Amino acid sequence: RVKRAGGGHSPFEPQQDGRSSSQVERLSALHRAIERDELRLYYQPKVNAQSRVVVAHEALLRWVRPSGMVSPLDFIPLAESSGLIVPIGRWVLREAVDVLRTGRLQEVCVNVSALELRQADYVDHLRSLLEESRVAPRQLWLELTESSLLEPRFISVLQELKALGVRTAMDDFGNGYSSLMALVSLPIQMVKIDRSFIAGVGEETPDEVRALEVVRGIVALATAYGLPTVAEGVETLEQANLLTKVGCTDLQGYFFGRPEPLP
Ligand code: C2E
Ligand code: CA
Ligand code: CA
Ligand code: CA
Repeated sequence: RVKRAGGGHSPFEPQQDGRSSSQVERLSALHRAIERDELRLYYQPKVNAQSRVVVAHEALLRWVRPSGMVSPLDFIPLAESSGLIVPIGRWVLREAVDVLRTGRLQEVCVNVSALELRQADYVDHLRSLLEESRVAPRQLWLELTESSLLEPRFISVLQELKALGVRTAMDDFGNGYSSLMALVSLPIQMVKIDRSFIAGVGEETPDEVRALEVVRGIVALATAYGLPTVAEGVETLEQANLLTKVGCTDLQGYFFGRPEPLP
């Protein structure tokens, strides 16, 4: 589990006087992190629901500081608003492709921000990265959130990625700007059902049935359009079995494995 950085005066923690660090302090700390090589990728397994065999791993960013680990939830927003996510995202891609090149993993899923996708040379850069390392594009998945997929100009980027052979998944489906139209009209290859729905599955509460029914509905719609589904945030065997029963293709969550550094 990611621990928030503790001890010392991390600009990502409130100060003793309760004041939080300025944007500038936080930004320069993030710059230093990149220079000092403090970013790491952890990998969380994803399994096939029927066989429970590991089919891929999701790469998740970690900022490892001497004082502890900073969660991506604490620095991705700053990286996005400052534009630093672009060089960070390139580093993430290079690392992930290298893990594939050296055969340490068979398939890797990488999270991509809208800002990265807006770079005019995004697909060309990815293409040359894959060619140089002789990695099959099918081994790489890009996870994009719904909100970024709704930008109309991304449709052509998705088509280019599809032509290249890199597959894309809609992340956090159902959270926020849900659009069933996007689900069925975009050239994507996987739907990742948001953890907030999965959390309600298998709980002994009146909500249980509804959470499972929502998942069943998403799976039915996706399946009708030929899209496989993955449930994220699966924490119990009961959830895993219920989600398998409603037809999820793949499962991911602490029950199957936490994000870990590669040995
Ligand atoms: P996400 O893409 O939705 O990733 C899933 C998050 O859920 C991860 O949090 C993961 O550690 C956590 N998780 C996985 N299984 C379980 C579970 O069973 N229970 C619970 N409670 N949580 C689970 P994490 O690693 O803190 O990442 C948070 C978010 O940061 C990610 O959400 C993603 O949006 C973003 N992120 C992470 N790495 C990158 C990256 O390389 N690039 C970009 N642009 N964003 C990233
Ligand atoms: Ca993700
Ligand atoms: Ca997600
Ligand atoms: Ca998310």
